[in-house]
Amino acid sequence: MGKIRIAFFDAKEYDRNSFVRANEKAEYEIAFFETRLTEDTCRLAQGSDVVCVFVNDDINRRVIDALVEMGVRLIALRCAGYNNVDIEYAYKKIHVVRVPAYSPYAVAEHAMALLLTSVRRIHKAYIRTKDFNFSLSGLTGFDLHGKTVGVVGTGKIGRVFADICKGFGMHVIAYDKFPAEGSGIEYVSLEELIRKSDVISFHCPLTDENRHMVNQETIAQMKKGVILINTSRGALIDAEALVEGIKDRKIGAACLDVYEEESNVFFHDYSNHIVDDDTLARLISMPNVIVTSHQAFLTEEALTNIADTTLENVAEFFAEEYSKNEVCYKCPEVSNCGQEHRKKCF
Ligand code: NAD
Repeated sequence: MGKIRIAFFDAKEYDRNSFVRANEKAEYEIAFFETRLTEDTCRLAQGSDVVCVFVNDDINRRVIDALVEMGVRLIALRCAGYNNVDIEYAYKKIHVVRVPAYSPYAVAEHAMALLLTSVRRIHKAYIRTKDFNFSLSGLTGFDLHGKTVGVVGTGKIGRVFADICKGFGMHVIAYDKFPAEGSGIEYVSLEELIRKSDVISFHCPLTDENRHMVNQETIAQMKKGVILINTSRGALIDAEALVEGIKDRKIGAACLDVYEEESNVFFHDYSNHIVDDDTLARLISMPNVIVTSHQAFLTEEALTNIADTTLENVAEFFAEEYSKNEVCYKCPEVSNCGQEHRKKCF
């Protein structure tokens, strides 16, 4: 086989830097495209063996059909989540690999950064002092020490976040669909977590089953003044129900690194435009909502690991009988893919 060609979609400057560096030894032919992978842009992958994609590339049935027809053999996600790929449809047509872990610390630390910013009103104080306004009124926060934090999803990121919270003297309770036996984590039911937590942080993958797990009914069961942190996937939270929950003064604050409809907005500069999404605009207008644009992963360490693992995934796929970071729609059945891949998924 000649040089492996990778069509790299949704490429940002920081992606180019880390992948060009990681590719120094591998020497793949990488074509960087700024556009996202969609039905309209997939022609750019013509002649490629691999498409490399990120969280907001939409790999639906039609895109999969087009890629297969062009002879693309591998979808290499440079992220952990794979909810944006129709993996059931991809089964037996095209293989999918991901980067299951690149820095749980990056995401967990960002979640804590958002929480501290919100609780201590740092986002307000920063703007005030820039304007030489040294008044403290309206900046009263509260101690995290002694508060109960509910962690939904106790995988790699959830556990690091739980440990950070313990360091702050918080009482950590958790819910996981597949609780880790013997981990020492205090598991409770989702209902109990929702009822008892002062802060709830989401670290589970998005699936059909948990889409809108935060909705009108679950918000009604939460403590008044609860703080929600979402660094996982936007659609875990029904954004309109969130707006209502904040307007009703039920939700005390929201820290959002992800948003249900982020794919049309996040990662782009709209500072000179009118944003069409009224729900997002309403959320951003609220003093107790902090939005970052899917930035939790963005550390030097994470970018290096993402590039290294993605290129290793490609090498392994073309050279070996097995591919340890492959995902297929059957994988989640096996305890969220805890299986050792001894051979390719199909
Ligand atoms: P992980 O696979 O290590 O852990 C996920 C945990 O969620 C597992 O323990 C699993 O059992 C649990 N889980 C699965 N379904 C669940 C459900 N319905 N309810 C509760 N728990 C459930 O994954 P991770 O590396 O910790 O990443 C977690 C999520 O964080 C990813 O799926 C991804 O969506 C998100 N993420 C976001 C960023 C970012 O930049 N914002 C970066 C990386 C990952």
